[in-house]
Amino acid sequence: MSGTIILRNAFLIDGNGGEPAPDSTVVVLYGTIREVIPDAKGIKVPKGRVIDLKGKTLMPGLIDAHVHPGNVELASRETAALPPAVYVHRATINLETDIDLGFTTLRDAAGLDFGFKVAIDQGLIRGPRLWLSVSPLTQTSGDTNSSRIGRVGPMPRNSIGVFPEICDGQDEVRKSARRALGRGADQVKIFADGEVASHVESDKAKPGQWKFTVEEIRAAVETAEAAGTYVMAHAYSPRAIQNCLAAGVRSIEHGNLMDAETAKMMYEKDAYYVPTLSTYDVLAKEARKILDIYTLEKLEIVLLKGHEALELAYQAGVKIGSGSDIIGPFQHLKGRELALKAEVMTPMEAIISTTRTNAELIGISDRLGTIEPGKWADLIAVDGNPLEDISLFEHGLERVVLVMKGGRIVKDAMKTP
Ligand SMILES: [Zn+2]
Repeated sequence: MSGTIILRNAFLIDGNGGEPAPDSTVVVLYGTIREVIPDAKGIKVPKGRVIDLKGKTLMPGLIDAHVHPGNVELASRETAALPPAVYVHRATINLETDIDLGFTTLRDAAGLDFGFKVAIDQGLIRGPRLWLSVSPLTQTSGDTNSSRIGRVGPMPRNSIGVFPEICDGQDEVRKSARRALGRGADQVKIFADGEVASHVESDKAKPGQWKFTVEEIRAAVETAEAAGTYVMAHAYSPRAIQNCLAAGVRSIEHGNLMDAETAKMMYEKDAYYVPTLSTYDVLAKEARKILDIYTLEKLEIVLLKGHEALELAYQAGVKIGSGSDIIGPFQHLKGRELALKAEVMTPMEAIISTTRTNAELIGISDRLGTIEPGKWADLIAVDGNPLEDISLFEHGLERVVLVMKGGRIVKDAMKTP
């Protein structure tokens, strides 16, 4: 933390969706936003360190509600085979890339160990705030178990001891959810549907092959709620999503095969939708040549349907959060999610879903997600106006020029004095 920092002359997008305010001043004191003064030309500037943001847009720190910085290779079996020290360093590079892109908060959709949070808190890693899932819950013969059909058994997610929790029946689900929470999970992640990136050569391992019964999912929801948290569920198909909704799941991830009826049910249940358009787009464009045929086939289907699902959810009035789900060596492209969303929503709505709505989804909107007095000073400055060019986030390594986390400057590409 530091003393007073005054951010001046900024084009301000505060995350609440109102008109942006030019020439704004934001005063940060000891890690917290103290004052927000729109159109502050000519005001008397309080004493402190002044940063001139002329020509820059000041925004809340971005939040990615579905990440896998721990999936350092495209194929999970390759990640799992890395020596522990190499794995930790590779995951650390991903976390530092995320902060350099302006993502000051991440909700990990499983893989990262609690130690990463400690290392960030201790200042060993220049990383974002983390909300962890640690081990995902999956059923016996869920795709995430094994890299090959005919071999049923837990496949490690990494070499530092994170395995999926394989559980069947309400009692086992409860025990697994408790174990994940005990290992530091902030929310419980379940696999309620088949996967795209499972690399399993089987017809039984694809989106639409729904997993877990409603009763099993309900056991996870109850266990999470008892611990003051909620369930996020990997689900693509209407049946899988509806199972989750019936059981009280708060956060539906991916949802690419959603239909209009399911979108309406999501709205009625007040669930959040976290589409993850960029991972499919990035895999299809950047990784096509290195994907196996099984993955590629599944990818084609969800890629086509993802855009349509977002449209259905948007029309139905569902609360839409934002997640990139980027895996492997493509972390630097995660900002593409905003541009893909803006094909359906307005650029401002895409920004809100990546800031305020994600903060509400994670349950931290009293502290983060908007620029308002009293909130933690997680702020970014971008070069240009994202309302005119939302694609700038895809080039965040260059275009995000200042990142502040809790009042501390963690990236400064403006060379401020
Ligand atoms: Zn994921």
